[in-house]
Amino acid sequence: MRKRVFLSIFLCAAVTLLLTAAFTELFLYRSASESLQSEVREEAAYIAAAFDTMETDAREAYIAALGETAANRITRIAADGEVLFDSAASAPQLENHLNRPEVASAIANGTGEDRRQSETLGEYTYYYAVRLSDGSVLRIANTEPNPYGLWRSSFGVLAAVAALVLLLAAVIAWLLTQSIVRPFNEIDLRHPLENHTYAELSPLLSRMEKQNREIDAQMQMLRARREEFEVITSNMQEGLVLVSQDGEVLSANAAAVRILSGTAGGSYLDLCRDKHYISVVESALSGKAKTKKMRRGGRVYTLAATPAQGTLRENAAVLFIVDVTDSELSEKMRREFSANVSHELKTPLTSILGYAEIIGNGLVKAEDIPKFTGRIQKEAARLLTLIEDIIKLSQLDEDELRAEFVPVDLYALCETVVQELTPKAQKAQITLRLAGESALVSGFEPSLFEMVHNLCDNAIAYNRSGGFVQITVQAEEECVRLSVADNGIGIAEEHIGRIFERFYRVDKSHSKETGGTGLGLSIVKHAALLHDAALSVESEPQVGTTVCVVFKKLAAERKE
Ligand code: ADP
Repeated sequence: MRKRVFLSIFLCAAVTLLLTAAFTELFLYRSASESLQSEVREEAAYIAAAFDTMETDAREAYIAALGETAANRITRIAADGEVLFDSAASAPQLENHLNRPEVASAIANGTGEDRRQSETLGEYTYYYAVRLSDGSVLRIANTEPNPYGLWRSSFGVLAAVAALVLLLAAVIAWLLTQSIVRPFNEIDLRHPLENHTYAELSPLLSRMEKQNREIDAQMQMLRARREEFEVITSNMQEGLVLVSQDGEVLSANAAAVRILSGTAGGSYLDLCRDKHYISVVESALSGKAKTKKMRRGGRVYTLAATPAQGTLRENAAVLFIVDVTDSELSEKMRREFSANVSHELKTPLTSILGYAEIIGNGLVKAEDIPKFTGRIQKEAARLLTLIEDIIKLSQLDEDELRAEFVPVDLYALCETVVQELTPKAQKAQITLRLAGESALVSGFEPSLFEMVHNLCDNAIAYNRSGGFVQITVQAEEECVRLSVADNGIGIAEEHIGRIFERFYRVDKSHSKETGGTGLGLSIVKHAALLHDAALSVESEPQVGTTVCVVFKKLAAERKE
């Protein structure tokens, strides 16, 4: 713009200068020519006046004397056109002048003039003729200054002046350009309405102000959205990675960086080198969604990569990483449980089938039949207990049971269990003792009953004749403590950590003898979990076992 403004101003100045010079030249030429003509006319008038007042004899000599001194060409022509005298040439040699316009006009009207161009030099000569009193014609002529000659003579001065003026024009144009452009350069685009500049720019600045406001609002919205997105993604447990078409990580949330344990901001390979990760990302970048599992740091993750199209660059990839360790574990446990259940159900059923076949084939003596039917009954009862335990266990998995929690007096519940198990204890010659006080806990009563029942049942089953089982319920400051202690066979240290596993038995044959399913303590563990209770075991082989369950006290109770 600066260049254009400068050139415009400079060209204007240059054209103005040239036109002025041309008009001045023309004016000078015309005024010089006019003053020459009037000079010629005046001279002719003087000479004619003097000629007319002179004696006839002196006239010839007067004209001849004038011809020698006068600057202008003087010619005297007779009334018939014959040239009588000429100051510039020999008169007899000149042709008849009667047909010259100025001569003809002077003879006819008294005066005449003409302006003719020289064929050789191209100059103009002005002729003025006046009729004298004797009938002859006096003609004065002078050559006008040549316009080109005039131009040539003044060219040097004119060129110097023009150069000076052009230089001046250039400086003025530069200064003007600066002063025109400066307000544009000084415009504060952030605050358009605060500028004091050309009034013509006001509509533009108002529009700019409006657009600035719109851009600010949009930027604020974008920032807010970005912050929202960052808050969401940074608090996500799942990893989220966005990879551009050329493999650059555009964004990776904190979880992704932690899981993949690499550095974000460079190539996707800097983030992780796991082959499954590389495979899903590359697949998504080539436009195909892919999902794989990745094992890392003892955990299992699902990697789901999809091509991202639309507003993003073509074939960018979005990778979603989900920690599936827990669901994998529970799936594994479910599979193991199903296998164990099948096995546990198969064993008594095989026995029942075997006994029934032997009886059916008549291979059993009549007196042995009650013994065999007794075994069938025992196996069937075991099967039933097993199925009941499985049902209880599956019920305990349900979180909805928490909704049915009510205040339960643990001591009263233990009394019921003691009552129920007394015949079994007496049969095994074991003393059942209950101590403590009434204590309320929040819980699902059937589940709590099952828990106390299983613990006491085990304490009787894995005991010795003459042994005891001590049940204690204690209401403490913050909790309610239930303990079931026995002085039975105890558990070796290496088994203690596993006895809560499903179907785990320390001594399979003993457990089967006592009708155990291997699910009793598993039910206790899940009941404790359901009630947010802490479960612990202390045991020493041949000394005894104490199982302790610590419940949180009911809130109302704690305040008292
Ligand atoms: P079971 O139905 O076989 O009793 P549990 O899950 O109730 O199964 O118990 C798992 C194992 O823990 C039992 O087989 C037993 O070996 C051991 N056990 C449980 N309670 C006691 C206890 N009070 N004294 C000694 N061993 C015990």
